Amino acid sequence: MVYVNKSNSETLKKYLSLDQKGKIQAEYIWIDGDSGIRGKTTTLDKYPTDVSELKEWNYDGSSTNQAPGDNSDVLLRPVAFFKDPFRGGDNILVLCECWNNDGTPNRTNYRHSCAKLMTTVTEHHPWFGIEQEYTLFDTDGQVLGWPKGGYPGPQGPYYCSVGANNAFGRDIVEAHYRACLYSGISISGVNAEVMPGQWEFQVGPCEGINMGDHLWVARYLLHRVAEDFGVVVSFHPKPIPGDWNGAGCHTNYSTQAMREAGGIKAIHEAIEKMSERHAEHIAVYGEDNEKRLTGQHETGHISQFSSGVANRGASIRIPRHVAAEGKGYMEDRRPASNIDPYRVTQIIVESTLG
Ligand code: ADP
Ligand code: MN
Ligand code: MN
Ligand code: MN
Ligand code: MN
Repeated sequence: MVYVNKSNSETLKKYLSLDQKGKIQAEYIWIDGDSGIRGKTTTLDKYPTDVSELKEWNYDGSSTNQAPGDNSDVLLRPVAFFKDPFRGGDNILVLCECWNNDGTPNRTNYRHSCAKLMTTVTEHHPWFGIEQEYTLFDTDGQVLGWPKGGYPGPQGPYYCSVGANNAFGRDIVEAHYRACLYSGISISGVNAEVMPGQWEFQVGPCEGINMGDHLWVARYLLHRVAEDFGVVVSFHPKPIPGDWNGAGCHTNYSTQAMREAGGIKAIHEAIEKMSERHAEHIAVYGEDNEKRLTGQHETGHISQFSSGVANRGASIRIPRHVAAEGKGYMEDRRPASNIDPYRVTQIIVESTLG
C-alpha cells in the first residue's frame, strides 16, 4: 500500500516555522448540511482565556446546504475551543454552532437542544463513551489495502490485527490518536476492526454535552490527518455490501446511580424505558442504518429491541464485567457510524431521565 503524502512536505515546514508575530490562527469548524464538517480560518490578536471571548462569525450557508442563496448568511457561534495539532503553537480549533439570521438554530444545529437538555440533568452526571468506527478509502474509491478491483480474504484475521497483510492504514490511526491527545480530546483507545481497512477510536467517558463536542472534533481531526496521507475517511454504516461488517457508533452510557453499588438496578430500569421507545431511537440513530442492523455481523435487527449480558447480537449489551460487579454502564449498539452524537445523547437522556 502506497501513501500519497500530500501536505507534510519539507517545503511547507519552512513556512510553518516562521514567526507568527504574536497572532493566533483560529480555525472555526462547524457541521454542514450533509453531516460533513467544514472549517475556515481567522486571525486573533490574543489567545482566548474563555470561549466567550471568541467573536461570532459567519459563512455562506448556500454553499453547505444550510441556507437559501437569497438569505445565505449563517452565523457561527463558538462553543468550545481546542489546541490545533496541525498548526501547533497557540493556534486553536474553534467548534461552533450554526444559527440563522432570524435568531433560530439552523436545522442542522442539534447541539443547541442537546445542550439545553443536559443542563437540566447535571445532578445525574450522565457519562457517555462512543466507539467511532470508520473505513479508510484511497482516492480511487478502493478500501485501503484491498486489491484493486477485488476483495481481500474473508473476515477473521483483521480485528485488532498486526502485520502488513492484515492491518491497513495504521499510520493514520497513530497520527490521529496523538493529534486528539494534543488537542485535549478525551480519546480513550483505538483498534483495528473486523472488516479490513476499518478502524475504531473511542471517545469518553465524557459528561453531558462534551460527548458530542469531543466526538465531532475527533472526526474533524481524522479527516484532516487522513487528508495529509491522501486517504479518504468514510462514516457510512455499510460501506461495502455483503458479508462485511458495517460501521457503528456504539454508545456507552451511565448515570451516577448506575455507577454506584447496586447500580445494575438503575441500568435495567433505563433499558426498560429505552425499550419502549425503540422506533424513536432508531429514527435518530443514523441514515442507512437498516443496511447495517440486519441481525447479522454482530448487530441486533433494526425492527426489534433486545438486550442481554455480553450479547453482541442485541440492541443493548450489558458488558460481562458490569453484570459481575453489579454496577457500571450499558452499551447501546444501535447507533450507526454516521450519527450526530448530539441527537443520540439527547434521546438517551430523554428516554432514561425524562
Ligand atoms: P467494546 O468492548 O464494546 O469494544 P470499548 O472498549 O471499545 O468497548 O469502548 C468502551 C467505551 O465505554 C469507552 O469509550 C469508554 O470510555 C466508555 N465507558 C467506560 N466506562 C463508562 C461509563 N461508566 N459510562 C459511560 N461510558 C463508559
Ligand atoms: Mn469571500
Ligand atoms: Mn469497541
Ligand atoms: Mn467496534
Ligand atoms: Mn462496542
